[in-house]
Amino acid sequence: MEKIYDVIIIGAGPAGLAAGSYAGRARMDTLIIEKDKDGGQIVITAEIENYPGGVDEESGPSLIGRMAKQAEHFGAQKVKDTIVDVELEGDVKHLKGLKGDYYGKTVIIATGAHPKPIGCPGEKEFTGKGVSYCATCDGSFFEDFDIYVVGGGDSAVEEAMYLTKFGRQVTLIHRRDQLRAAKSIQEKAFANPKMKFMWNTTVEELKGDGILTSMVVKDTVTGETREIVANEEDGTFGVFVFIGFEPHGELFEGKVEMKNGYIVTDDNMKTNIPGVFAAGDIRVKSLRQVVTAAADGAIAATQAEKYIEG
Ligand code: NAP
Repeated sequence: MEKIYDVIIIGAGPAGLAAGSYAGRARMDTLIIEKDKDGGQIVITAEIENYPGGVDEESGPSLIGRMAKQAEHFGAQKVKDTIVDVELEGDVKHLKGLKGDYYGKTVIIATGAHPKPIGCPGEKEFTGKGVSYCATCDGSFFEDFDIYVVGGGDSAVEEAMYLTKFGRQVTLIHRRDQLRAAKSIQEKAFANPKMKFMWNTTVEELKGDGILTSMVVKDTVTGETREIVANEEDGTFGVFVFIGFEPHGELFEGKVEMKNGYIVTDDNMKTNIPGVFAAGDIRVKSLRQVVTAAADGAIAATQAEKYIEG
């Protein structure tokens, strides 16, 4: 007979790791399944400014490293596998992975979200060849080059400022004439001499020959398009895209109640299926931050314990 865990957590981002710490600490037999690196989106975040207690600059990878260590310290086991199918009804939940099958009395879905692409021609072709979704991963490739950042939210503005450490100049391309980012973040960006702003503009096409060499942008007010060509000496430039996220929820479509790709839960992280919980960015919620993901994870694990006891 296969082992039956008390709790299986899918995803090792802040929500999954916080759930792992709480479940482990409650002495539940806990397994965290992650298909990739720990951390989800925060491993591509250069600085976490607003996690409570974070007065010194801390990077996403550093924070996630501490969270992973804490979950392991409390006894949560971890396995690297990609879950391809789930059977969530009944007392024992069955998760099918590429490497094996996993059984649990409860499941916490903490699969998070991934960066949203622009969706324009050339974007896929030049990803990793000029186009990036991760400033910490790829910023250094553009040392003294021109860098463009697409988006106007917290991520775009914060990552653009981080990229000023590398780029000769960083130009934020935003589709409106006002940023969505928090005012405190905006103030820093407007005060940064290396930051430039291209308002009312969208990226229509990314072009090149092996590497990115130009992009077509459109003025959203006049409808005019023009081509931005790489500096002749550089031969290329960087385009970093931060326009929001898409949930990792396909696996659960038709298995739990969902809305626009996100999982619906109550305040206790319960889905409509008994013993199945969701935590973090994958669920319908108003604020997707590390602090709310971690809080969701803590609640989900505590409720999983209650469910098993009950
Ligand atoms: P976001 O807040 O959803 O902002 C997305 C930005 O991209 C918006 O400015 C949006 O323009 C633009 N956009 C969306 N689709 C676009 C498209 N197809 N083409 C061009 N532009 C497009 O996303 P985010 O900045 O990634 O942040 C996600 C969540 O994480 C937010 O809740 C944010 O507060 C949080 N976050 C917080 C921090 C922090 O507090 N330190 C850091 C990072 C992220 P419009 O403005 O016109 O809609």
